[in-house]
Amino acid sequence: MTHTHPAIRVSEIFGPTIQGEGVLIGLPTVFIRTGGCDYRCSWCDSLHAVDNQFRHEWEMMSIDTVWQTVVALSGGRPVMVSLSGGNPAIQPFRALIERGHGEGYRFALETQGSVVRDWFADLDVLVLSPKPPSSEMRTDWAAVEACIEAAQEKPQIVLKLVVFDDSDYAYAKDAAARFPRLPIYLQPGNHTPPRARNEDAPVDLDGIMKRMEWLIEKVTRDRWFEARVLPQLHVGSAPANTREPI
Ligand code: SF4
Repeated sequence: MTHTHPAIRVSEIFGPTIQGEGVLIGLPTVFIRTGGCDYRCSWCDSLHAVDNQFRHEWEMMSIDTVWQTVVALSGGRPVMVSLSGGNPAIQPFRALIERGHGEGYRFALETQGSVVRDWFADLDVLVLSPKPPSSEMRTDWAAVEACIEAAQEKPQIVLKLVVFDDSDYAYAKDAAARFPRLPIYLQPGNHTPPRARNEDAPVDLDGIMKRMEWLIEKVTRDRWFEARVLPQLHVGSAPANTREPI
């Protein structure tokens, strides 16, 4: 009997490029950005992977095709594969992770923690990024908790919080208190207008730097030494020359 794996809804596959944020900052990484998200954050910078108006650009791809693309982009050299979106937890990734592991690749997934999958335990890195009040979304902490349980302490799990303002900062502190065993990364929010594919909106570097300084000052004044404050080195989607057309 042949067994067919469910297809993955892909917005874009690109790289290897240098991971620009969080725990994997600086690592050569191939990104698989999936289409579709159960959230609509007010400041989402990946709308082309979220909003249904871009649906015609998403493609249902077989595991074989996705994997061949990753191998072609990386020249067959095992690198980190980052599963992002949208919310990549919506997609069926188990078989792809299994296949990639067999060839020495590693997998990280970043999600807001609203959709729980038992294959989180197969990941190498799980980045949980609950969305703060400025996103205008409401966090289901029980779901975030369930994501951590599903991972069964197998992957490295980190919390990543985007902080725009004081209430986001308070939310980040609350998140850290809920999950004291998880390393926490804080990232200043970015007000650059959302980019559609192939559009080059100017990046609000000034604003990012100001919020970075503000955040560092707050964390230092609070003596919150467990938190790591990191900038976001890249914004939105991939530069056009690293993007695999699909
Ligand atoms: Fe965008 Fe992420 Fe929010 Fe989804 S969870 S709307 S991808 S910022």
